[in-house]
Amino acid sequence: MQVVYSQRYHIDIGPHVFPTRKYQLVHQRLLETGVVRPSDVIEPKPAPWNDLALVHTRAYLAKMRAGLLTTADIAQLELPWSREMVEGFRTMVGGTIEAARRAVARRGITVHIGGGLHHAFANHGEGFCPFNDVAVAIRVLRRDGVERVAVIDLDVHHGNGTAFIFESDPRVFTFSMHQQHNYPEWKPRGSLDIGLADGTRDADYLKALEDALPAVMASNPDYVLYLAGADPYEHDQLGGLRLTRDGLRARDRLVIGHARKSGLPMAIVLAGGYARSVDDTVAIHTATIHEAARGD
Ligand SMILES: [Zn+2]
Repeated sequence: MQVVYSQRYHIDIGPHVFPTRKYQLVHQRLLETGVVRPSDVIEPKPAPWNDLALVHTRAYLAKMRAGLLTTADIAQLELPWSREMVEGFRTMVGGTIEAARRAVARRGITVHIGGGLHHAFANHGEGFCPFNDVAVAIRVLRRDGVERVAVIDLDVHHGNGTAFIFESDPRVFTFSMHQQHNYPEWKPRGSLDIGLADGTRDADYLKALEDALPAVMASNPDYVLYLAGADPYEHDQLGGLRLTRDGLRARDRLVIGHARKSGLPMAIVLAGGYARSVDDTVAIHTATIHEAARGD
Protein backbone atom coordinates (compact mmCIF):
# COMPACT_ATOMS: atom_id res chain seq x y z
CA MET A 1 0.00 0.00 0.00
CA GLN A 2 1.04 3.61 -0.52
CA VAL A 3 2.46 5.50 2.43
CA VAL A 4 3.72 9.04 2.77
CA TYR A 5 7.05 9.43 4.55
CA SER A 6 10.24 11.45 4.66
CA GLN A 7 13.48 10.69 6.44
CA ARG A 8 13.52 14.38 7.40
CA TYR A 9 11.14 13.43 10.25
CA HIS A 10 14.07 11.94 12.14
CA ILE A 11 14.87 15.30 13.70
CA ASP A 12 17.65 15.74 16.23
CA ILE A 13 15.97 17.23 19.32
CA GLY A 14 18.56 15.96 21.78
CA PRO A 15 17.68 13.65 24.68
CA HIS A 16 13.88 13.77 24.73
CA VAL A 17 10.86 11.63 25.61
CA PHE A 18 9.63 12.12 22.02
CA PRO A 19 11.42 9.46 19.93
CA THR A 20 11.62 11.11 16.49
CA ARG A 21 13.41 7.99 15.25
CA LYS A 22 10.10 6.12 15.49
CA TYR A 23 9.12 7.32 12.01
CA GLN A 24 12.24 5.86 10.46
CA LEU A 25 11.79 2.61 12.41
CA VAL A 26 8.16 2.21 11.32
CA HIS A 27 9.14 2.87 7.70
CA GLN A 28 11.92 0.29 7.96
CA ARG A 29 9.64 -2.32 9.57
CA LEU A 30 7.02 -1.90 6.84
CA LEU A 31 9.61 -2.46 4.13
CA GLU A 32 11.01 -5.50 5.94
CA THR A 33 7.60 -7.12 6.28
CA GLY A 34 6.76 -6.38 2.64
CA VAL A 35 3.57 -4.47 3.48
CA VAL A 36 5.13 -1.54 1.67
CA ARG A 37 7.50 -1.67 -1.29
CA PRO A 38 10.09 1.07 -1.84
CA SER A 39 8.08 2.25 -4.86
CA ASP A 40 4.99 2.71 -2.62
CA VAL A 41 6.65 5.40 -0.51
CA ILE A 42 5.69 8.95 -1.40
CA GLU A 43 8.12 11.67 -0.37
CA PRO A 44 6.23 14.82 0.62
CA LYS A 45 7.34 18.38 0.00
CA PRO A 46 7.47 20.87 2.86
CA ALA A 47 4.13 22.67 3.18
CA PRO A 48 4.51 26.15 1.66
CA TRP A 49 4.49 28.95 4.23
CA ASN A 50 1.35 30.29 2.57
CA ASP A 51 -0.42 27.00 3.27
CA LEU A 52 0.68 27.15 6.90
CA ALA A 53 -0.81 30.66 6.98
CA LEU A 54 -4.25 29.18 6.25
CA VAL A 55 -4.17 28.21 9.94
CA HIS A 56 -1.29 29.97 11.68
CA THR A 57 -0.86 33.69 12.28
CA ARG A 58 1.74 35.55 10.24
CA ALA A 59 3.39 36.75 13.46
CA TYR A 60 3.87 33.19 14.75
CA LEU A 61 5.16 31.91 11.42
CA ALA A 62 7.64 34.79 11.20
CA LYS A 63 8.99 33.89 14.65
CA MET A 64 9.31 30.20 13.73
CA ARG A 65 10.98 31.00 10.47
CA ALA A 66 13.56 33.37 11.87
CA GLY A 67 14.24 31.49 15.11
CA LEU A 68 12.84 34.30 17.26
CA LEU A 69 10.90 32.18 19.73
CA THR A 70 11.19 33.41 23.30
CA THR A 71 12.26 31.19 26.20
CA ALA A 72 8.58 30.99 27.19
CA ASP A 73 7.62 29.96 23.62
CA ILE A 74 10.25 27.19 23.67
CA ALA A 75 9.10 26.01 27.11
CA GLN A 76 5.52 25.74 25.86
CA LEU A 77 6.54 24.01 22.62
CA GLU A 78 8.85 21.66 24.55
CA LEU A 79 11.18 21.35 21.55
CA PRO A 80 14.47 23.11 20.89
CA TRP A 81 14.38 25.45 17.90
CA SER A 82 16.60 24.66 14.92
CA ARG A 83 16.28 25.12 11.20
CA GLU A 84 16.23 21.33 10.85
CA MET A 85 13.33 21.14 13.33
CA VAL A 86 11.30 23.74 11.43
CA GLU A 87 11.97 22.11 8.05
CA GLY A 88 11.28 18.61 9.39
CA PHE A 89 7.89 19.59 10.79
CA ARG A 90 7.04 21.71 7.76
CA THR A 91 7.68 18.58 5.68
CA MET A 92 5.47 16.63 8.08
CA VAL A 93 2.61 19.07 7.45
CA GLY A 94 3.21 18.56 3.72
CA GLY A 95 2.96 14.82 4.36
CA THR A 96 -0.48 15.08 5.95
CA ILE A 97 -1.69 17.31 3.10
CA GLU A 98 -0.37 14.73 0.61
CA ALA A 99 -2.01 11.80 2.46
CA ALA A 100 -5.38 13.58 2.72
CA ARG A 101 -5.32 14.58 -0.95
CA ARG A 102 -4.46 11.05 -2.07
CA ALA A 103 -7.09 9.45 0.16
CA VAL A 104 -9.77 11.71 -1.31
CA ALA A 105 -8.56 11.22 -4.90
CA ARG A 106 -8.42 7.42 -4.55
CA ARG A 107 -11.51 7.24 -2.32
CA GLY A 108 -9.51 4.92 -0.10
CA ILE A 109 -7.12 4.93 2.82
CA THR A 110 -3.73 6.61 2.76
CA VAL A 111 -1.30 6.43 5.66
CA HIS A 112 1.15 9.09 6.69
CA ILE A 113 4.10 7.79 8.72
CA GLY A 114 4.08 11.06 10.63
CA GLY A 115 1.74 13.87 11.67
CA GLY A 116 -0.97 14.27 14.27
CA LEU A 117 0.41 17.53 15.71
CA HIS A 118 -2.89 18.36 17.38
CA HIS A 119 -1.60 20.61 20.18
CA ALA A 120 -0.56 23.47 17.86
CA PHE A 121 -2.80 26.55 17.91
CA ALA A 122 -3.02 29.34 15.34
CA ASN A 123 -0.71 31.65 17.27
CA HIS A 124 1.57 29.26 19.14
CA GLY A 125 2.97 25.75 19.27
CA GLU A 126 2.89 23.51 22.31
CA GLY A 127 3.39 19.93 23.46
CA PHE A 128 5.92 18.93 20.73
CA CYS A 129 3.65 20.41 18.01
CA PRO A 130 5.06 23.41 16.12
CA PHE A 131 2.40 23.38 13.36
CA ASN A 132 -1.04 21.79 13.26
CA ASP A 133 -0.72 19.49 10.23
CA VAL A 134 -4.30 18.24 10.53
CA ALA A 135 -5.75 21.75 10.56
CA VAL A 136 -3.59 22.89 7.65
CA ALA A 137 -4.56 19.83 5.57
CA ILE A 138 -8.24 20.53 6.26
CA ARG A 139 -7.91 24.13 5.06
CA VAL A 140 -5.88 23.13 1.98
CA LEU A 141 -8.45 20.52 0.97
CA ARG A 142 -11.20 23.05 1.47
CA ARG A 143 -9.37 25.37 -0.91
CA ASP A 144 -9.39 22.39 -3.33
CA GLY A 145 -13.20 22.20 -2.92
CA VAL A 146 -13.49 19.39 -0.36
CA GLU A 147 -15.56 20.91 2.41
CA ARG A 148 -16.59 18.53 5.14
CA VAL A 149 -14.35 16.44 7.33
CA ALA A 150 -14.50 14.42 10.52
CA VAL A 151 -11.42 14.26 12.74
CA ILE A 152 -11.18 11.11 14.85
CA ASP A 153 -8.50 11.85 17.43
CA LEU A 154 -7.64 8.83 19.56
CA ASP A 155 -4.33 10.04 20.93
CA VAL A 156 -4.31 9.74 24.74
CA HIS A 157 -4.15 13.56 24.92
CA HIS A 158 -7.04 15.84 24.04
CA GLY A 159 -6.78 17.49 20.60
CA ASN A 160 -6.86 21.01 22.04
CA GLY A 161 -5.38 22.93 19.11
CA THR A 162 -7.58 21.29 16.51
CA ALA A 163 -10.73 21.73 18.62
CA PHE A 164 -10.01 25.41 19.17
CA ILE A 165 -9.13 26.18 15.55
CA PHE A 166 -12.41 24.69 14.30
CA GLU A 167 -14.53 25.67 17.29
CA SER A 168 -17.08 27.59 15.24
CA ASP A 169 -16.76 25.74 11.93
CA PRO A 170 -19.76 23.46 11.32
CA ARG A 171 -18.00 21.75 8.40
CA VAL A 172 -15.37 20.20 10.65
CA PHE A 173 -16.48 17.60 13.18
CA THR A 174 -13.80 17.19 15.84
CA PHE A 175 -14.03 14.03 17.91
CA SER A 176 -11.46 13.45 20.63
CA MET A 177 -11.39 10.50 23.01
CA HIS A 178 -8.60 10.88 25.55
CA GLN A 179 -7.59 10.53 29.18
CA GLN A 180 -9.44 13.30 31.06
CA HIS A 181 -6.83 13.89 33.77
CA ASN A 182 -3.84 14.50 31.56
CA TYR A 183 -2.27 17.28 29.50
CA PRO A 184 -3.64 19.62 28.21
CA GLU A 185 -5.24 21.02 31.32
CA TRP A 186 -7.49 23.35 29.29
CA LYS A 187 -9.51 21.28 26.82
CA PRO A 188 -11.39 23.57 24.43
CA ARG A 189 -14.69 22.03 23.46
CA GLY A 190 -14.75 19.96 20.28
CA SER A 191 -17.81 18.57 18.50
CA LEU A 192 -17.60 15.41 20.61
CA ASP A 193 -15.25 14.95 23.54
CA ILE A 194 -14.99 11.81 25.63
CA GLY A 195 -12.71 12.13 28.64
CA LEU A 196 -11.83 8.69 29.99
CA ALA A 197 -10.96 7.83 33.58
CA ASP A 198 -7.36 7.00 34.50
CA GLY A 199 -6.57 3.33 33.96
CA THR A 200 -9.36 2.67 31.43
CA ARG A 201 -8.83 -0.76 29.85
CA ASP A 202 -9.58 -2.34 26.46
CA ALA A 203 -13.21 -3.38 26.95
CA ASP A 204 -14.48 -0.05 28.32
CA TYR A 205 -12.43 1.88 25.79
CA LEU A 206 -13.73 -0.11 22.83
CA LYS A 207 -17.31 0.13 24.07
CA ALA A 208 -17.08 3.94 24.35
CA LEU A 209 -15.56 4.13 20.87
CA GLU A 210 -18.18 1.88 19.33
CA ASP A 211 -20.93 4.02 20.87
CA ALA A 212 -19.35 7.25 19.60
CA LEU A 213 -18.48 6.39 15.99
CA PRO A 214 -22.05 6.50 14.61
CA ALA A 215 -22.37 10.15 15.72
CA VAL A 216 -19.08 10.96 13.97
CA MET A 217 -20.21 9.33 10.73
CA ALA A 218 -23.62 11.05 11.00
CA SER A 219 -21.85 14.42 10.63
CA ASN A 220 -21.80 13.59 6.92
CA PRO A 221 -18.09 14.14 6.19
CA ASP A 222 -16.49 13.97 2.75
CA TYR A 223 -13.47 12.29 4.33
CA VAL A 224 -12.00 11.32 7.69
CA LEU A 225 -8.69 12.22 9.32
CA TYR A 226 -7.70 9.62 11.91
CA LEU A 227 -5.06 10.34 14.57
CA ALA A 228 -4.06 6.84 15.62
CA GLY A 229 -1.99 7.78 18.67
CA ALA A 230 0.02 4.95 20.21
CA ASP A 231 0.00 6.61 23.63
CA PRO A 232 -3.21 5.10 25.11
CA TYR A 233 -0.92 2.06 25.54
CA GLU A 234 -0.55 0.63 29.06
CA HIS A 235 3.23 1.16 29.11
CA ASP A 236 3.27 4.70 27.79
CA GLN A 237 5.33 7.21 29.76
CA LEU A 238 2.99 10.15 29.12
CA GLY A 239 -0.33 8.32 29.17
CA GLY A 240 -2.45 6.90 31.97
CA LEU A 241 -4.79 4.56 30.09
CA ARG A 242 -4.26 0.80 30.14
CA LEU A 243 -4.80 -0.40 26.57
CA THR A 244 -2.97 -3.50 25.42
CA ARG A 245 -1.45 -3.88 21.98
CA ASP A 246 -4.37 -6.13 21.03
CA GLY A 247 -6.79 -3.50 22.31
CA LEU A 248 -5.15 -0.82 20.20
CA ARG A 249 -5.33 -3.06 17.17
CA ALA A 250 -9.04 -3.66 17.81
CA ARG A 251 -9.46 0.12 18.08
CA ASP A 252 -7.86 0.61 14.65
CA ARG A 253 -9.97 -2.15 13.14
CA LEU A 254 -13.11 -0.49 14.47
CA VAL A 255 -12.29 2.96 13.10
CA ILE A 256 -11.06 1.69 9.74
CA GLY A 257 -14.07 -0.63 9.48
CA HIS A 258 -16.51 2.24 10.05
CA ALA A 259 -14.87 4.38 7.39
CA ARG A 260 -14.85 1.49 4.90
CA LYS A 261 -18.48 0.64 5.61
CA SER A 262 -19.44 4.27 5.03
CA GLY A 263 -17.34 4.39 1.85
CA LEU A 264 -15.37 7.33 3.21
CA PRO A 265 -11.82 8.24 2.22
CA MET A 266 -9.52 8.29 5.21
CA ALA A 267 -6.04 9.62 5.90
CA ILE A 268 -4.31 8.12 8.92
CA VAL A 269 -1.61 9.98 10.84
CA LEU A 270 0.43 8.53 13.71
CA ALA A 271 0.29 11.18 16.49
CA GLY A 272 1.86 10.39 19.91
CA GLY A 273 3.65 7.33 21.26
CA TYR A 274 6.08 7.37 24.19
CA ALA A 275 6.25 3.77 25.38
CA ARG A 276 9.15 2.94 27.68
CA SER A 277 10.36 0.69 24.88
CA VAL A 278 10.42 2.39 21.47
CA ASP A 279 9.92 -1.08 19.95
CA ASP A 280 6.41 -1.13 21.45
CA THR A 281 5.58 2.25 19.96
CA VAL A 282 6.86 1.09 16.58
CA ALA A 283 4.89 -2.18 16.82
CA ILE A 284 1.67 -0.30 17.63
CA HIS A 285 2.06 2.13 14.73
CA THR A 286 3.01 -0.69 12.39
CA ALA A 287 -0.07 -2.69 13.42
CA THR A 288 -2.25 0.33 12.57
CA ILE A 289 -0.78 0.38 9.08
CA HIS A 290 -1.22 -3.38 8.70
CA GLU A 291 -4.91 -2.92 9.54
CA ALA A 292 -5.16 -0.18 6.93
CA ALA A 293 -3.45 -2.39 4.35
CA ARG A 294 -5.94 -5.20 4.80
CA GLY A 295 -8.36 -4.96 1.93
CA ASP A 296 -6.68 -1.87 0.48
ZN1 LIG B 1 -0.40 12.28 22.85
